[in-house]
Amino acid sequence: MTRTLLTNATLIDCLTPAPAENASVAIEDGRITEIHTHGRKPETGDATVIDLAGAYLLPGLWDVHIHPDYLPLAEMPLAEQVALFGHRLMTALTESGIVGFRCAGTHDFMDVAWKRAFDSGQFVGPRLYACGHFLTTTGGHFLTTGHALECDGPHGFVKAIREQIKNGVDHIKLNLSGGIMGPAWDRHWHSFLLQDELEAAFAICRQREFKVMAHATNPEAVKNALRLGAHSIEHGYIMDDECIELFLKTGAWYVPTLAISHLTPGQVDNDWERAWVRQRNMLHSHCCRADAASDVHAGWFRTALDAGVKMALGSDIRPLKDAGLLEMGLWVKDGATPWQTLLAATRNAAAVCGVAHDLGTVEVGKLADLIVVAANPLDDINNVRQLELVFKEGRVVSDKRTTATP
Ligand SMILES: [Zn+2]
Repeated sequence: MTRTLLTNATLIDCLTPAPAENASVAIEDGRITEIHTHGRKPETGDATVIDLAGAYLLPGLWDVHIHPDYLPLAEMPLAEQVALFGHRLMTALTESGIVGFRCAGTHDFMDVAWKRAFDSGQFVGPRLYACGHFLTTTGGHFLTTGHALECDGPHGFVKAIREQIKNGVDHIKLNLSGGIMGPAWDRHWHSFLLQDELEAAFAICRQREFKVMAHATNPEAVKNALRLGAHSIEHGYIMDDECIELFLKTGAWYVPTLAISHLTPGQVDNDWERAWVRQRNMLHSHCCRADAASDVHAGWFRTALDAGVKMALGSDIRPLKDAGLLEMGLWVKDGATPWQTLLAATRNAAAVCGVAHDLGTVEVGKLADLIVVAANPLDDINNVRQLELVFKEGRVVSDKRTTATP
């Protein structure tokens, strides 16, 4: 049995908004066994004690909408792409404290492969929830990335979904409409599936009890997805009041992916965003499309948030170590409080992935996937960047504290 005691923490448990000072957390065999505040401490016994010196202890962060890099196989062979994806995931855990990811489309089931590699302990990585391919239509969305699979007709969708299930995915990523980043015929206000295709796709997922992560970017697509039982709606760039009502009625999740419409040279306003845009070197036409969609997207984000729609944080951008942190900044820029943003990236994100019972908050009985940051993220959400420690199941997987010698 291994026992670790974290002392002198300022605890943000993601249950109550006020940080608890002088807190101690005991961890045994990967799970939190005791939490004490106001200077009370559990028995030390043979525990390894880590004095956090007042730093902020909180649940690890999550990003619930991700993809591997988009690289043509001619440019980088498959094996190297798979290795690169693993590197991106592991770096996000150790460099940014992102302990969980939900995939939204990958080729060759590389998400399933890495999920298994991490779960078996072959590599120390974040938790990963896999979907396999991004299922779209011929002439659909996301085609140049290599991660999309073009399906047509009810049978085409049913067969593709069964193949994803057979390959070990956790959920199904279904594309209902166009996007911002695409060719001229791929428009986010267009829906792509016919009614019989939609009904067949949702029916087979329901029959096999697989949750649908629905890419839906216009009111018709959002409403179709919600009425047919989608677990989460991704993007929702354009919605209407009826979409909001359906969200509240069905209890489905909304993952807004603000980064897609907000991170352009014309919109960036801090050094992290500027550095990201410079390195991304996006197509001019895509920047124009994002700029044109941004205000409406921000408006529906805010409307959904204010209406009490269940929302979680997903970035849809890369590299993964920067993606979730940038998205958190955008939530606050668009009117979310740091508290709402933190919940979206912890408790709500774990709930979207179906693991709220084990993860997402600092509570007795839960797995100790935790981070320590030097400054209060409730004062400034970008303080999550001041990472000191990352724990996975109570084990230190990253230590960035400077060992100052007196
Ligand atoms: Zn995506």
